[in-house]
Amino acid sequence: MTAKVYTVENRKGGVGKTTTAVTLAVGLARRLYEDGGGNVLVIDMDPQGDAARGLGLDPNGRCVSNVLLSDGSVDVLRANVMAADRGGDGGPSRPNLYVMPASDKLSEAKEDILTEFALAAARSMRSRRSGNERHLVDVLDEKLGLAKQAFSYIIMDCPPTLDLLQQAVHQYADYAIVPVKVDFHGASATGRHTSNILQDQAEGIDITIAAIVPTFVNAQHNLTKSMMRELSRVYGKQVIAKTIPNTVRVAEAPASGGRTILEYMPDSPAARAYQDLVDRIYAQG
Ligand code: ADP
Ligand code: MG
Repeated sequence: MTAKVYTVENRKGGVGKTTTAVTLAVGLARRLYEDGGGNVLVIDMDPQGDAARGLGLDPNGRCVSNVLLSDGSVDVLRANVMAADRGGDGGPSRPNLYVMPASDKLSEAKEDILTEFALAAARSMRSRRSGNERHLVDVLDEKLGLAKQAFSYIIMDCPPTLDLLQQAVHQYADYAIVPVKVDFHGASATGRHTSNILQDQAEGIDITIAAIVPTFVNAQHNLTKSMMRELSRVYGKQVIAKTIPNTVRVAEAPASGGRTILEYMPDSPAARAYQDLVDRIYAQG
């Protein structure tokens, strides 16, 4: 098995990246479970560590930085990945969903991680005695290689910053999902982000936008219609059809026993919209 790797990214904070990442992960895990197998891993790349919290989990020292600083062995992976299933304690049942959390440690270790990556790249260049440039993305691939074999989907919840590590993550992923907060500022920031993705594509980096996800949508606002028109003009069918409404239900869900909206209010319009996104991604195979 080789995981399909998705990033959920946007250079702006507070646009619904983490909400989209964990909700999508819960939905994909369910679809796989219904269809007889496969596991989903959420990797939190944001030191704020919201992904595990959003699922009601206590990382208890686990952090993606431990994996990035390691040799990527199975022991280190096991020590830093946790099951998201909370069926046993009266929470939501998620038998095939796992999380590699993030913490402050990730920002503290950033310099060390980049040094370790640069050294690993240099070592392998020397050992191959070739002038081939080895990219940070290959080192990342080495650290996450075993995880990539063990899961069907890896969903990477990204920070709003774009540093060297994040660029490697961006190159590593097969697909990007870009939540866009539907307000004026949201539109312009995402324009920048997607134009960067397109620039990467022009330089031969293989990343595809799987979905543009309008979030915080207030259907009754005048601004909404014009912004949606603009998004479809630029991104066409990449924009999901059923947009995510701005509703306190979505914000309440993590605070209501660490649930996603799919688990908290499955019949709400927001849950139906997220389910639509899940089905779209799942249908991509
Ligand atoms: P990001 O990861 O981009 O910073 P989050 O997913 O953490 O954004 O969302 C920011 C805040 O907005 C969180 O408190 C979240 O619960 C809330 N939120 C996310 N999506 C919605 C929505 N559709 N409607 C209302 N609140 C939302
Ligand atoms: Mg976040």
